[in-house]
Amino acid sequence: MKLSKADLERLKQDLLQRKLELEHELVSLSSEQMVDGQSQDDGDQVVSITMETLRNSLQDTEYQEYSNILAAIEAIDKGTYGICRECGEQISENRLKYNPNARRCLGCQERAEGKEFR
Ligand SMILES: [Zn+2]
Repeated sequence: MKLSKADLERLKQDLLQRKLELEHELVSLSSEQMVDGQSQDDGDQVVSITMETLRNSLQDTEYQEYSNILAAIEAIDKGTYGICRECGEQISENRLKYNPNARRCLGCQERAEGKEFR
């Protein structure tokens, strides 16, 4: 089953929406970091390092999602979206619904993840 142009367009709008949300989050996170840097005093240093580590890891996860979204949008534009990069088969619509960034069909994904797939 192939995704229609309208399906792809709707999906792209969703991705663009999510991309904007993430951009706002990333911007507010990095401006918070700047405020921290300016108001830093010696007594608070341990706390601020811990918070910074936390924030950085959050940012990493979101940044990962962000780059996945960029890749998905690019794939939609190129017309390769929803096609398994391993075997070239169409990825099922149901799988894409739950995982819009899927780059492999379920079979190839399970193989790639070994028996750890849950
Ligand atoms: Zn495949």
